[in-house]
Amino acid sequence: IVQWTPFFQTYKKQRYPWVQLAGHQGNFKAGPEPGTVLKKLCPKEEECFQILMQDLLRPYVPVFKGQVTSEDGDLYLQLQDLLSDYVQPCVMDCKVGVRTYLEEELSKAKEKPKLRKDMYDKMIQIDAQAPTLEEHAAKAVTKPRYMVWRETISSTATLGFRIEMLEERGHQFRRVQNDDGREQIKMAFMEVLSGHASILPRYIQRLRAIRATLAVSEFFQTHEVIGSSLLFVHDHNHASIWLIDFAKTVSLPPELHIDHYSAWKVGNHEDGYLIGINNLIDIFVELQAA
Ligand code: ATP
Ligand code: MG
Ligand code: MG
Repeated sequence: IVQWTPFFQTYKKQRYPWVQLAGHQGNFKAGPEPGTVLKKLCPKEEECFQILMQDLLRPYVPVFKGQVTSEDGDLYLQLQDLLSDYVQPCVMDCKVGVRTYLEEELSKAKEKPKLRKDMYDKMIQIDAQAPTLEEHAAKAVTKPRYMVWRETISSTATLGFRIEMLEERGHQFRRVQNDDGREQIKMAFMEVLSGHASILPRYIQRLRAIRATLAVSEFFQTHEVIGSSLLFVHDHNHASIWLIDFAKTVSLPPELHIDHYSAWKVGNHEDGYLIGINNLIDIFVELQAA
């Protein structure tokens, strides 16, 4: 069962609700110019934005306006605020891909795989059947084991995307109990889109345009895209989808080519990004036909 827990409800009073809700606490601030936001600088992400501003994908990512230093001396990326043209928008963050950790994070975790009691505890809280007999006996699991398992409890491993955050008319919902049920995900989309008949075809059109552009983007051909999201935004009048969050997007070793679709095996760098895009399109098309 998919459970949605409201965790933030005083949205209307706030002009910049994402200051609180954004991924990592404290990562976002209102920008110095209207229509912009500041995200804590991560050099890898800045590099991606610099390339993206010259890439065919540019119309599908927030405009990158350079670095800004805040009053407290921290460095930020100044980005186009994707919500500024919307009135009380419904916002959904879908993390795309079949895994959300980098190959290097997994290999680092494998270097000295200590047994972790805390990860065993998290595992049995979600699924008491998940640990093996040995893991139950040790009351612990290794970190690489936990990382790989964690993707299988959400739709990440099966559908190539998961809903990270969904917000409607000031009510924040975050998925707490993960479940790979395609039908549950369809129901969540249906709920959000009910009463907005014109939105669904626009989302489908935008997703198809994104897929077509990915096929010819040099950035996409040369990068492993991990932990990045599609941000869905709509209100009564308009709807759009944007590619965001490139903090874990890394350039591929020069001789390596991935198709973003083949099954991931340790070391092959496949991210399953197109598996997620295709499943999102299929689900939205099914909703339209329903
Ligand atoms: P995490 O790594 O946990 O996903 P993060 O700190 O890297 O989070 P992002 O994923 O980039 O942050 O953004 C988090 C949220 O902030 C998004 O889901 C979205 O709601 C909001 N957000 C991000 N970028 C923008 C933007 N340019 N305009 C408006 N809202 C944004
Ligand atoms: Mg994110
Ligand atoms: Mg991130």
